[in-house]
Amino acid sequence: MKQFMCLDVGGTKIRGALFGDENIEPIRQQKIPTQNQGQKVEDRICGLIREIWPVNSNVDAIAIAAPGFVDSDKGVVIRAVNIPGWEFLPLQKILQDKFNTPVIIGNDARLAALGEWKYGAAIGHHDVIYLTISTGIGGGVIIKDRVLMGSRGMATELGHITILPDGPLCSCGQKGHLEAISSGPAIAQFVQEEIKNGKKSSVSALKNFSSKEIAQAAFEGDELCQLAYKRAGSFLGMALVNLLHTFNPTCVVLGGGVSFTGDLLLEPMQKEIEKSILSKEYLGNLTFSTAKLGENAGLIGGLVLITVNNL
Ligand SMILES: [Zn+2]
Repeated sequence: MKQFMCLDVGGTKIRGALFGDENIEPIRQQKIPTQNQGQKVEDRICGLIREIWPVNSNVDAIAIAAPGFVDSDKGVVIRAVNIPGWEFLPLQKILQDKFNTPVIIGNDARLAALGEWKYGAAIGHHDVIYLTISTGIGGGVIIKDRVLMGSRGMATELGHITILPDGPLCSCGQKGHLEAISSGPAIAQFVQEEIKNGKKSSVSALKNFSSKEIAQAAFEGDELCQLAYKRAGSFLGMALVNLLHTFNPTCVVLGGGVSFTGDLLLEPMQKEIEKSILSKEYLGNLTFSTAKLGENAGLIGGLVLITVNNL
């Protein structure tokens, strides 16, 4: 039996799992905090790999789901906003030299898209758009059963498409990107600014609030919080219209904490799509699904990446 190891490196946690062949139930798995004072994140990754390494046997390949801009061909993390110091990090080489086994790295959202396509919400579909909406917005696109990577593995940065010129500042440093309007922190920031401008909201009584508390207040009838989700959902719909026109999929999978607020976000999204779509034919055989693999999507996507590359 072949054994594969997959790791998903997030801003707060690193998750690792050992898989046997193509079985998506891990043989063993573990997670650790990403940051630990004085330790490099890449050293923590090596530590986790050693911990879950099988006793007296080998690992046939390792896949790493990494955040940010990843050059999959060269095996380099170009930049990860959530991990200080990760700029042009040759992660593939570092791990290959240490563990003497093939290593493949990919953007975490692209891998999650692969996972949802093969084993999750988009099983049976050949053309899929996957969007994850949480602290940031990431995405992946499957066309004719292949994940679209672009020339260097950097294609489909769907959170960084411009939908509002001169709009709010994005985590990447540019303005008006989808992530700067429809992500969790962007929704919270919109409410904060409106409160500063004199708008009333029940969440202003809280010391800190996130998109979660805003969703709760919106369900209870708070108008500003409802408006915040309506705005985020409409812009999400606008982005999706562009993506539907570009890729013409049969399935759109939405993942990430913000998407699980349901109709609050999805109703204005649907309305915008119906209003702006070029032809209803784009929607005829289109399914919208919520992601099914949860926090395992990146790990399972890593497993798919290993198998499609015949490692
Ligand atoms: Zn951006």
